[in-house]
Amino acid sequence: MGPVTGLRVDGLLVEVPEGASLLDAVRAAGGSLPTLCHDDRLRPAGSCRTCLVRADGRITAACVTPAAPGTDVATAQEDLRALRRDAVELIVSGLPPRALSADCRSELADTCRTMDITPQATASEASKGRDDSHPYVQLDRDLCIACGRCVRMCDDVQGTFALTLTGRGADTVVAPGTGGPWAQSDCVACGGCVDTCPTGAITRPGPGRGITTAQSHPESVRTTCGYCGVGCTLDVVVDGNRVSAVLPALDGPVNQGHACVKGRFAHGYLTSTERLAQPLIRKNGHLEPAGWEEALALVADGLRDAVATGGPDAVAAISSARTTNEENYLVQKFLRTVIGTNNVDNCSRLCHAPSAAGLSAAFGRAGGTDSFDDVEKADCLLVVGANPVEAHPVIGARLLQHALAGASLIVADPREVGLAHHADVHLRPRPGTNVALFHGLAHVLVAEGMTDPDFLRDRATGLPELTELLTRHTPARTAELTGVPAELITAAARLYGRAERPAIVYGLGVTEHLHGTDGVRTLANLAILRGAVGNTGRGYGITPLRGQNNVQGASDMGALPDMLPGYGRVTDPEARSRAEAVWGRTLPAQAGLRIPEMFEAARRGSLRALWIIGEDVCATDPDSRQVVEALDACPLVVVNELFLSETAKHADVVLPVASWLEKEGTFVNFDRRFQRVRTAVRPPAAARTDFDVVHAVAAAMGADLGCRTPAEALSECGRVAPLFAGLSHTRLDREGAVAWPCPAPDRPGEATLYTDAFTTPDGRARLSAAPYLPPGETPDAAYPLLLVTGRRWAHYNSGSMTRRGDNLLLEDRGYLDLHPQDAARHGLHDGSEVTVESRHGRARLTARLSSGLSPGQVFCAFHFPESGVNALTSGHADTVTSCPEYKVTAVRLTDGTARTTP
Ligand code: SF4
Repeated sequence: MGPVTGLRVDGLLVEVPEGASLLDAVRAAGGSLPTLCHDDRLRPAGSCRTCLVRADGRITAACVTPAAPGTDVATAQEDLRALRRDAVELIVSGLPPRALSADCRSELADTCRTMDITPQATASEASKGRDDSHPYVQLDRDLCIACGRCVRMCDDVQGTFALTLTGRGADTVVAPGTGGPWAQSDCVACGGCVDTCPTGAITRPGPGRGITTAQSHPESVRTTCGYCGVGCTLDVVVDGNRVSAVLPALDGPVNQGHACVKGRFAHGYLTSTERLAQPLIRKNGHLEPAGWEEALALVADGLRDAVATGGPDAVAAISSARTTNEENYLVQKFLRTVIGTNNVDNCSRLCHAPSAAGLSAAFGRAGGTDSFDDVEKADCLLVVGANPVEAHPVIGARLLQHALAGASLIVADPREVGLAHHADVHLRPRPGTNVALFHGLAHVLVAEGMTDPDFLRDRATGLPELTELLTRHTPARTAELTGVPAELITAAARLYGRAERPAIVYGLGVTEHLHGTDGVRTLANLAILRGAVGNTGRGYGITPLRGQNNVQGASDMGALPDMLPGYGRVTDPEARSRAEAVWGRTLPAQAGLRIPEMFEAARRGSLRALWIIGEDVCATDPDSRQVVEALDACPLVVVNELFLSETAKHADVVLPVASWLEKEGTFVNFDRRFQRVRTAVRPPAAARTDFDVVHAVAAAMGADLGCRTPAEALSECGRVAPLFAGLSHTRLDREGAVAWPCPAPDRPGEATLYTDAFTTPDGRARLSAAPYLPPGETPDAAYPLLLVTGRRWAHYNSGSMTRRGDNLLLEDRGYLDLHPQDAARHGLHDGSEVTVESRHGRARLTARLSSGLSPGQVFCAFHFPESGVNALTSGHADTVTSCPEYKVTAVRLTDGTARTTP
């Protein structure tokens, strides 16, 4: 705790942190005041006058009055009570009686009950009307008290600025700033306005209507969001076995009372009639319902046959970034100990494998260098190849608020992503030219003396080689290679180079390239050159925004073909023997197959059994035609799924499993925090957790994997992997979140890495002198446009969960964004159906004109598998990690009516 202020509240001496308000002081003294315009997440407004107190004899609103040392605060005097009651009565006098009805659970209704203000004291029913146009946010204007909390939540927390107050006097009400219905506004349905509204004027429809705090619902379950890698802490309010509402936890370590449309609202899939409720077995070419016993026997027999025919390496598994750590741990343990192969991988192969490889090579560990709480202290943010406002909305909002509060912001992205609107400098490199751009920035840092010589001398290696290479990357040459004007390169480098505490945040726009690992390493060069990494006090390193909820954890748990849990190499006898001692079996010593190699082996006939857990590879992996061919060629394909996904349709056995709201375990978020996942509702019918399914398959093969519960699995993992030795469910239940490395139960997790030394073999950070090499595809006469793929705010990954609920009303199809010039050239307009062709396949999308793209570049997501977007993407992949080059595909547009492939 920092400096404190001492003062008296009703005679009681209290201490509050410097900068606290009198409201904080009253609460610290155990008191409470009505606060209808106040929310701790927002800057105080002091407009409702319901929190009046007397401070040194003067009556003032407690929420906006600083707690000065020695102040004598009175709250309980009769005249103050009367004033506060008058203020509340005045507010409710304009509301209809239902605002205070007995079943109303709003903050206002509770306040009135506490103050004995009854509905009879209110005015008769008014009729300003409703706005029910939006699927998740509904407005009853008659209940609006114009407190402005919703507007400030939208501005100060979410940063969308979608709301305003309109009208005068008693007719003032909240409204979308764009005018018109809410559904057509800029609202991104983060739910912040719903949560903060004190009267029930803004609510969500459905059973959760009016629920704004989890505290009053003892049946709520605290868990971690299962969508993106931000790792928001959510309180799930349940009614029987149904989710009534999902609320962001005010004390969530990452989200701090905020969430996004996915975590907050997209749980309709839980009760979708399309949920798989029993196993399916392929018979005579068709998937037919079966019992678990039959399905498990078929899987076990198929795995045995595969091993008998082709040896252990004829079996492989794709584990899941969607499942828990404990499930990933069990999957890789099954492959390594029961089958005897290292053929296990996870979808980080398709997104952040270059981060793991690049950050390990540069610093020693396969994760970001600093906690996001530290990143938020930076005075300069360099955000590269990421669109967090849409893909990681809570982090996007925190970054935006930090920039609005004064941090300088450099955005490097080909598109005009959300943060770019607020950037000091927006660099728009041609897709595939990142390495050249980072070298250009580094050139300016070196040429203008904006480096840290002491750090480079004492804690880094590789400077001579890099300096030599950088001589060829002048801003002018970089401009030629990247298309970014030289003066912008210099301006960005100076902003980063002259900042006192810069931080780098990046996303898949850095990794999903032919030279993605080089991209990560040469981006890391900037932090090393500045000495802005390694707890130097001169910056906050480099942080990857991990995509899926547990993509960090899946790799941490060893669901990788070359790594055991905790990143011990399978080729390292010491790491192997540590695992062998715990698992009681000799482990294979050669690295297994990566995901693309698994498909290749299946097509070749050497892979005879593939178990895919929670990944829709036919929708999300590149060159999907080849993926389908691989699955069809493999004698046994087993898929664990919630729905009959594109991949499940090609399986021989489909096993129905539980979702993240239906099981126990842990996830690791993007800044390496372990957090608990807890069961809020039961899965449907015969669906089981992946944890139980892996155990059951092992048992069907006569093996016992031990660790009967997820808690036991995490503890066992800690014995295999020293990085996690201090972690347990009990500790996480107690502490909420713990970062790794965490080598002992009595030691805190290391949120900031490399406090003393880097964990490379020589303890030094390594600069990379990787040369710039062109991307795998470039536009030409036949395919003149460059396609970039990414995410949209309303959907997630293959969309299997977000498309089964009302998020579909927010975005109902796959769109192709293109510049108006390109649209005009092709005779397209908003809403035109368009066929996109690459050298690899064809997709059908709906055109959407956007000046946020450069001419010659088009953008789409793959949330709608029927569009066939990944039929377009190529087989080019990062030369180090095999991460696909999703960000660069040469395409052309036709107006044809050809059918979508595959
Ligand atoms: Fe979930 Fe990510 Fe949204 Fe948070 S930002 S609620 S983790 S999807």
